[in-house]
Amino acid sequence: MFNLNNKVAIVTGASQGIGKEISLSLAKKGAKVICISRNEEALKSVVRDIKKLNGEGSYAICDVTNIKNVQKTVEEIILKHSRIDILVNNAGITQDSLLLRMSEQNWDSVINTNLKGSFNFIKTVSKNMIKSKSGKIINISSIVGLTGNAGQANYAASKAGLIGLTKSAAKELAVRNIQVNCLAPGYISTEMTDKLSEGVKENLLKQIPLNRIGNPDDISNAVIFLCANETSYITGQTITIDGGMVMN
Ligand code: NAP
Repeated sequence: MFNLNNKVAIVTGASQGIGKEISLSLAKKGAKVICISRNEEALKSVVRDIKKLNGEGSYAICDVTNIKNVQKTVEEIILKHSRIDILVNNAGITQDSLLLRMSEQNWDSVINTNLKGSFNFIKTVSKNMIKSKSGKIINISSIVGLTGNAGQANYAASKAGLIGLTKSAAKELAVRNIQVNCLAPGYISTEMTDKLSEGVKENLLKQIPLNRIGNPDDISNAVIFLCANETSYITGQTITIDGGMVMN
């Protein structure tokens, strides 16, 4: 089910965690995946893993916060592949602190990576998708963007912003047959959540009705679903993937 043969897919933040799993899953479904982050060694290793699965993958080093860098990267991808069918805006960081202690730098870097980075890629890639009158864009938000979280004002604002960006882009691009959706993961086991204290992890687990921490493939399975032709009547939506933590 859900064949993505020969679709050209860009995944940002592909060097580890959820982005790596999304890249491997897209490749398993037949997509040609371009893995993006700032860490060349980690990206080479992801591409090797894709090739071990007999998939097609390559990488580009790009800082999502830098629009010139994004434009150059996308130009090179289009020169090589002629088109882009799928964009997954997954790159994200946390720099947690209570509001009163949050520095301007903490605020700016989280907003610039999580929100502006996605804007940079949507703006640049959608030009090509508009020409080909098709495309799928998936933004990785967080349940924190729906609920807010003490100590994460910057992160929650960036993730709530992504939901607004998703809905606006979905409305603008619908006429060109481009679907834009958002995933809001809960607590997923990755390097990002490894750094939480044991106490915080135990407390989070108590709030998950399904009583388990999510895995990166819980997110990548939903990405595949949203990238498929069969689901192209879904746009502008935010799907929470959180074991039932937040029920709307
Ligand atoms: P992670 O393990 O920390 O990976 C983050 C990825 O983002 C890395 O590949 C990193 O690559 C990349 N990245 C960061 N800044 C970048 C930049 N300026 N330019 C390019 N790439 C950049 O995080 P994760 O847990 O897999 O999370 C992935 C996404 O899911 C994030 O958006 C996160 O907010 C969201 N999310 C995660 C959870 C969770 O529980 N894990 C929950 C909700 C939402 P380099 O450092 O190699 O550049």
